[in-house]
Amino acid sequence: MIGRLPVGGDAPIVVQSMTNTDTRDVEATAAQIHALTAAGCELVRVAVPDMEAAKVLGKIKSAIAVPLIADIHFQHQLAIEAVRQGVDALRINPGNIGSAQRVREVVHACREREVPIRIGVNAGSLEKDLVDCFGHSPRAMVDSALRHIRLLEDQNFNLIKISLKSSNVNDTIEAYQLLAEEVDYPFHIGITEAGTPERGAIKSAVGIGILLYLGLGDTLRVSLTGDPVQEVFTAYQILQSLSLRQRGIELISCPTCGRTEIDLIALATAVEKRLQHIRQPLKVAVMGCVVNGPGESRTADIGIAGGKGNGLLFRHGEILRKVPENQLLDVLVEEVEKLAAEFSR
Ligand code: SF4
Repeated sequence: MIGRLPVGGDAPIVVQSMTNTDTRDVEATAAQIHALTAAGCELVRVAVPDMEAAKVLGKIKSAIAVPLIADIHFQHQLAIEAVRQGVDALRINPGNIGSAQRVREVVHACREREVPIRIGVNAGSLEKDLVDCFGHSPRAMVDSALRHIRLLEDQNFNLIKISLKSSNVNDTIEAYQLLAEEVDYPFHIGITEAGTPERGAIKSAVGIGILLYLGLGDTLRVSLTGDPVQEVFTAYQILQSLSLRQRGIELISCPTCGRTEIDLIALATAVEKRLQHIRQPLKVAVMGCVVNGPGESRTADIGIAGGKGNGLLFRHGEILRKVPENQLLDVLVEEVEKLAAEFSR
């Protein structure tokens, strides 16, 4: 459990993101967490670079409704303060905080409040001896994770989650596969430093998609150089593509071709934008013509198949009516909103 959120086992795969505000700015950080939550984010991590940031975590926590993870590097005092402030989990690598006594103090604080620890191994910051032996390889990442895990297990602490991140997709997959043979803890997955929203989404979809298909991953974060809200949308698209989670609109739209007689590209783009607020899992088809159009539209909850200057509107496979092209967008949005309202009742 991370706060009230179940993680691992049969629990749904959790969508996580991380704020990029200055954590010490409580208002800005809480506002960004609200925006993330509105987009469907279920778990939020904040960076805790200093004691000032650690000391406002309680205030942030009381302003938000999702579990909060404090991301800490090296300084065990920050971890202890974060737990005192009521965070729901820590991300800290016990091997990086110094003496065994410091590890004991952090574990003691976490044990008292049942605060889990996520060990986050990053290919870019592995221990020197492991790099000397194995290079920046999956094996080195796994051995690094096992060392951190052992430090916690030695204290009989097993509220552990692990991530193994590399910006290389193949290495990431191999590392998680290797670790899955050795431990049974939940995994947090993602492709780190995946890039700008478009490239990063593709790289993340490939890496995270393969891991999920292999049954690996309990929480996930899409790392994008951009607004973290975009990470959440991308995460759901990945989960939706594998039928693992459903939230919001699944848009089916054709690539258009020589048969298309309406401005379908503009229409599909506008439909996607206008339906971003819908949370109910509905399938909407925007098809260019009557060749494949009606077939696809029929399997969708709502669909249109373009004709010449007009389109046929479908709902659950039934033709509702013919709509002039200039009204298609509004009519489609209206029908989807109607269906979403019925879905919620
Ligand atoms: S649905 Fe029709 S318009 Fe769209 S790509 Fe297929 S044949 Fe072309």
